[in-house]
Amino acid sequence: MATVVWLHGGACNGNTQSFLNAEEPTVIDLVTDFGIEVLYHHALVTEMGESAKALLNSIIDGTRELDVLVVEGTIINGPNGTGRYDMFLGRPFKDWVADLAPKAFVTVGVGECASFGGMPSTAPNPSDSEGLQFRKAKRGGFLGESYTARSGLPVINIPGCPAHPDWISQILVALATGRVGDITLDDYQRPETFFKSFTQTGCTRNQYFEWKQSVEEFGQGTRNGCLFYEKGCRGSFTHSSCNRILWNRQSSKTRAGQPCHGCTEPNWPHYDLAPGTVFKSQKVLGVIPQDVPEGTDPLSYTLHAAAARAAAPEWAKEDMFVV
Ligand code: SF4
Ligand code: SF4
Repeated sequence: MATVVWLHGGACNGNTQSFLNAEEPTVIDLVTDFGIEVLYHHALVTEMGESAKALLNSIIDGTRELDVLVVEGTIINGPNGTGRYDMFLGRPFKDWVADLAPKAFVTVGVGECASFGGMPSTAPNPSDSEGLQFRKAKRGGFLGESYTARSGLPVINIPGCPAHPDWISQILVALATGRVGDITLDDYQRPETFFKSFTQTGCTRNQYFEWKQSVEEFGQGTRNGCLFYEKGCRGSFTHSSCNRILWNRQSSKTRAGQPCHGCTEPNWPHYDLAPGTVFKSQKVLGVIPQDVPEGTDPLSYTLHAAAARAAAPEWAKEDMFVV
């Protein structure tokens, strides 16, 4: 049995929408089979107003125990550090998080905004938003670098815009079944089981990536090339399991002909690299250090790419078919 409070800060509700689509396990399974008791979630429980406030205050005063605090969305500090741009149950949302986080056995940031600040924290950041323990790639965030929950763990970040539903539900299962110790976190406090490999792992366009053959249009089928060079796919330097654990059990962005734009990385949406857009291509903006596959450098990559392109077999250059 694990009690869960899910709070919603500065965000679009996308992670709740994603979570409600979880399949392995489903949200219902979490409650009926894994003993999760949802004390508060804005879309799942009937508590609201004074009763919700009383419930949260009972956790803060120690009357009720909280196992898992989930936060979706940024912590909004504006204006002028008051947090009054985001009021919740009569007080700034940030004050609820400050009071509840020390009471939780584990705290989980769901989605890019809670993890790293995401879109709202991108300059000029008028709401003065930040993530729970990061502001973009910089450690600290709202709770501060030294924060740990009662378990001794820092915030577990499940980034993504939104996070994949099964990343969320499977971490909740691990927490509810007492397997907190099995969760290994990377440098950005992401569970390695979902974020150690690159988005490119499992991509059905990998053979075209190797021969540097590109699609011409968004949406072209997987036999028409890779999305890296012309379309700015970040799959070779983004850590996610989007091509291993498919979305809706059947697809991913790259399978659908859409470049990965790196939404699980702390600096997303990378406006600093491509002002005004989340997309950029090697062709348009040129190869810069952040834009070559992780583990290589621009010069080596450029030489390798030229050789691969020159040596590409005929089948790799053909439009096989458009899906
Ligand atoms: S760059 Fe993108 S489309 Fe190309 S192989 Fe890697 S993940 Fe797939
Ligand atoms: S494919 Fe890339 S942009 Fe799309 S959800 Fe996965 S990590 Fe995010």
